[in-house]
Amino acid sequence: MSESLDRLVRQAHDTHVVVIGGGVSGLVAARECAKVGLRVTVLEATDVLGGVVRSAEVGGMTLDVGAESFATRGGIVRELLDELGLAGEVVSPNPAGAWVAGVPGVGAAPLPKGGVLGIPDNPFAPDVRRVIGWPGAWRAYLDRLRPPLTIGHTHSLGKLVGSRLGSRVLDRLVAPVTSGVYSARPDDIDVDLAAPGLNAALTRVGSLTGAVAELRASRPATRPADAPASDVPVATGAGKAPAPGGAVQGIVGGMSRLVDRLVEVLDEAGVELRRGVAAEKLERTSDGWAVVTSVDEKPLAARAVLVALPEGPARELLAPVVKGLELGDPIAPVVEVVTLVVNAPVLDAAPRGTGVLTVPGSHVAKAMTHSSAKWDWVRDAAEPGVHVVRVSFGAQGEEPATAALDDDAAADLARTEAAAMLGVELPASALIDSHRVRYVQSQPAATIGRAAATSAARTAVRAVDGLGVTGAWVSGTGLAQVIPDARDEADRVRSAALWRS
Ligand SMILES: Cc1cc2nc3c(=O)[nH]c(=O)nc-3n(C[C@H](O)[C@H](O)[C@H](O)COP(=O)(O)OP(=O)(O)OC[C@H]3O[C@@H](n4cnc5c(N)ncnc54)[C@H](O)[C@@H]3O)c2cc1C
Repeated sequence: MSESLDRLVRQAHDTHVVVIGGGVSGLVAARECAKVGLRVTVLEATDVLGGVVRSAEVGGMTLDVGAESFATRGGIVRELLDELGLAGEVVSPNPAGAWVAGVPGVGAAPLPKGGVLGIPDNPFAPDVRRVIGWPGAWRAYLDRLRPPLTIGHTHSLGKLVGSRLGSRVLDRLVAPVTSGVYSARPDDIDVDLAAPGLNAALTRVGSLTGAVAELRASRPATRPADAPASDVPVATGAGKAPAPGGAVQGIVGGMSRLVDRLVEVLDEAGVELRRGVAAEKLERTSDGWAVVTSVDEKPLAARAVLVALPEGPARELLAPVVKGLELGDPIAPVVEVVTLVVNAPVLDAAPRGTGVLTVPGSHVAKAMTHSSAKWDWVRDAAEPGVHVVRVSFGAQGEEPATAALDDDAAADLARTEAAAMLGVELPASALIDSHRVRYVQSQPAATIGRAAATSAARTAVRAVDGLGVTGAWVSGTGLAQVIPDARDEADRVRSAALWRS
């Protein structure tokens, strides 16, 4: 090695970057910094790395209890999995699709294939009519007869769908999707962010269903800004592929294997991974930052700090050192996921496909994933007749119905809700094991006004030397959003840190 190269390598190693938060965004950012030889420390407040991508032992199986898939668009997550040697482990879900439950006068029905955010391209299609009935179909058809001049630019998805297609399309098709995917009401979703191009197509074509048809035909890759957000049984890509589920994939053994592999790679690269260490305060120093932690007597010195936390803790940490940044988000949606392992051979027939979204207000739970019907690897891990279902609670700014319950009562409620959604009997004696976890999410990126708020936060952070911010609250929810953003932000921070050293 030449003397100057040797000096550069030593210089890089002397440059210490602290990444705060050991979720996927933090781990990916740490890897990018380590790649150029920087000395990297990751601080994770809990004892487990991975954040929302996590697993638990339930009924003798290792199961995902947070994120369980990734959006395939752009091949971004896949590229990382390739780099990590996990390409051969990638699997597609059962294409059977999901159902919608709680439809007045109908009960449960398969979620219509196609459409954009639940908005159908043909209200008379048999699967659409089954959910909205003839009155709903004729009401939606009226949209085609409205004079084009009544068309204006509407931001609110709920207002747009309600006014043009009527309440049945809104309540029975669109609201279950936005509630399940975004934990938000249609009224709060920005059409231009959730379905880019839809408003423009509406102006061109003159009807909303026609616009959906045009969008699907012309832009197969178009998709909501940040779906799939969460614990939902369907993917919501607005692409051509009609089968819900076609736009996501998973990993044999669960998404938590991505975290395991990232941790291995970071260990090999010499990154210091500190579990059970929370960052409590940031202070400016003459040549960088001091990070006050929950366990260290002296603050950690760093040339640069990359904050990869959920919105509340991120703002709390950053607000005192970033001009113009406000404190946390008081209406962050809370979701509880209850995983049940049940002895129920009646579920072998997958009576509701891969899962169920509910019409808001019809059930206590907002969605259910029949994991052992959705993923072959889960089915294979379970004994014959044993099934795994994940029931999600909490949407639209309401506390999850399970929030005040102890674990046994939460499992009991999840079991009765799952039985109702699946349309089968699931007696208490069927329950083998359960697991409950609570997540505080960020407002979805597609919420009205959200893009401006996060972009302002990002600009404010970037104005501060040696500071970076990443994570779902700024990048948008979902691994396909989080991973590229973490890479880009780490690249910016590492370049600046090396330049200064
Ligand atoms: C129930 C659920 C299911 C989901 N399913 C999917 C899915 O199937 N597919 C998909 O693509 N996306 C899914 N998502 C979204 C996706 O999981 C997230 O967008 C992504 O994992 C967020 O990663 P992150 O690193 O930004 O945040 P997090 O995963 O929240 O990580 C942040 C980390 O920071 C730590 N931390 C907090 N405070 C401190 C502190 N002061 N000091 C140090 N550490 C701290 C936390 O403990 C946590 O580990 C789901 C989300 C939820 C809630």
